[in-house]
Amino acid sequence: MKTIGLIGGMSWESSVEYYRIINQGIRERLGGLRSAKILLDSFDFEEIACRQRAGNWDEAGEMLATSARRLEQSGADFVLICTNTMHKLFGPVQDAVQIPLVHIADPTGAAIKAAGIKRIGLLGTAFTMEDDFYRKRLEERFGLEVLVPEAQADRQMVHHVIFGELCQGVVRDESRAAYRAVMSRLVERGAEGIILGCTEIGLLVGPADASVPLFDTTHLHAAAAVEQALAG
Ligand code: GLU
Repeated sequence: MKTIGLIGGMSWESSVEYYRIINQGIRERLGGLRSAKILLDSFDFEEIACRQRAGNWDEAGEMLATSARRLEQSGADFVLICTNTMHKLFGPVQDAVQIPLVHIADPTGAAIKAAGIKRIGLLGTAFTMEDDFYRKRLEERFGLEVLVPEAQADRQMVHHVIFGELCQGVVRDESRAAYRAVMSRLVERGAEGIILGCTEIGLLVGPADASVPLFDTTHLHAAAAVEQALAG
């Protein structure tokens, strides 16, 4: 079994989920007392979030690259960046190490394609919804049409719930209702499914909150890590 390197802490509320889902996956596959070999390098999230807010992506990229090198030197066979947003820096982080990184959009795009879906809604931070690094990968590699919430107020609400609540361990019914409304507007515009494109959103909404299938990137990314750990 290969050793999985996790760049986490962004936020730790979702890193905990990665740890649990990966270990559950290994137990399901191998049984008994088997569990995953995991190295976790966990950031103080404020040190990353303040650089996101300031648009200081180069410095954030260097911090993640250093983390990936630490994991490589410690014996990781491959690495996951446990946040959608920081995949904005996937290229420079991958370039910093010899071992492969598993891109979060790849198992997500594959699952959407396997479900026969062409037009997909995307919820995430403003960086993930408004920059093109995430959408482009889904469009170019998987031939998907990606819709984000049309109204800026909707995108702002989704973003603020992530940073102001979910990343701080706060889960509110009012925010769930607001997310449900945003998802139904995406469905009205033709979305046949919704990507929970932020690793904390699965803490707030689940399949019962939408009329179309939800694609939870935390689960899909963690499941891909299990596959890769057991491959070969
Ligand atoms: N975990 C979130 C994501 O998947 C947001 C935290 C971040 O900005 O890295 O995008």
